[in-house]
Amino acid sequence: AQNSDHEDRTRSLELDGITKEYTEDDGSTVVAVDDVSLDVYDGEFIVLVGPSGCGKTTTLRIVAGLEQPTRGTLRIDGEDVAGQEPRERDIAMVFQNYALYPHKTVRGNIAFPLEIRKYPDDEVEKRVHDTAELLGIGDLLDRRPSDLSGGQQQRVALGRAIVRDPSVFLFDEPLSNLDAKLRIQMRTELNKLHDRVGRTSVYVTHDQVEAMTLSDRVVVMNDGRVQQVAPPDEVYEHPENRFVAGFIGEPPMNFFPVTTVPDGDSLRVDAGGFSLVLDPDVADTVAAWDGDTEHLDLGIRPEAFEDAALVERELGEGETFPAHVAVVEPMGPHTDLALRPIDRSEDETAEFTARVANETDATPGETLDLVVDTDAIHLFDQETGANIL
Ligand code: ATP
Repeated sequence: AQNSDHEDRTRSLELDGITKEYTEDDGSTVVAVDDVSLDVYDGEFIVLVGPSGCGKTTTLRIVAGLEQPTRGTLRIDGEDVAGQEPRERDIAMVFQNYALYPHKTVRGNIAFPLEIRKYPDDEVEKRVHDTAELLGIGDLLDRRPSDLSGGQQQRVALGRAIVRDPSVFLFDEPLSNLDAKLRIQMRTELNKLHDRVGRTSVYVTHDQVEAMTLSDRVVVMNDGRVQQVAPPDEVYEHPENRFVAGFIGEPPMNFFPVTTVPDGDSLRVDAGGFSLVLDPDVADTVAAWDGDTEHLDLGIRPEAFEDAALVERELGEGETFPAHVAVVEPMGPHTDLALRPIDRSEDETAEFTARVANETDATPGETLDLVVDTDAIHLFDQETGANIL
């Protein structure tokens, strides 16, 4: 259903049941990519995100033609590319280590993909010039990579990818070698570049902020499998399962094992240190769930908590609960708190995170009254991890 608005659009990439297995020296099999199916539409910016080893780089390398899938089919612009060499595919790849030619100038590096394809000199000259202007490196054309900053080198690597105007760009963690400030700057530039050039892009990162800020749709992977494919706000607000919920969002979502108890038309979830009363429509949704609904995992994002003293509306009885304040971290616009249930104030393993307004008077070692925005909570099946709400 989430793809319904794409139906009329051309598919640039179609991955259908792509699986990649490696055989280890001891004969055992590693499934790096497990039955991945994904359509990427013309002009779309897709980000593959997930923890180390989840299979995102292998997926990208299969699209590039650098690896052959064990099973499954891959189409680029509608054509099955099985057996096609990387250079036969109309794609360009930007790597984490820029892989520039050290002895060539910036001009020579950007021109290279055109020269090996025997573009005429005047065409090379014009394209290199236009590309360098687009990336703001027009005055660096005669320098060598060693005389450039990391950010400038990364721009040259981008230039080399876009100069040929391929139909698909592949990016493998292209910003991970840059310092934090430059990374944010280049992220913004990549966004602008995509707005201007508008080519289909597949971008691999383990950085969820990059995933959220760059993508039209995020593909969250774990253990070689696709966990969810959706626009960034949907992945954040409606994570399909506990893995996605815990991976997307910083600081991460808090999880509490709860028991549920009917409370009139409502549903009370009891987390031990506190309990919440949830609306009748939530009670209905939970009642309709096929599985053990007496024991669930409650998910609360840090920002769904608030310091009760800073809430302006009248709070009813039972809406607030006390917690032990372990750590207070003022972050500027808000303050992050490490908290513990009041009856487990010595237990570091019971800690959870709240992000509250910066006017809070929370003090380490003291007690703070909290409220939870019950519209923003999630409930997960403990056995399957599926999101019930
Ligand atoms: P990272 O962010 O660390 O690069 P990733 O999500 O990109 O991780 P992959 O590099 O795709 O993950 O690796 C997926 C799995 O496949 C890992 O368990 C990895 O060890 C394994 N793998 C990758 N390449 C090979 C190989 N050539 N031989 C054996 N196993 C491999």
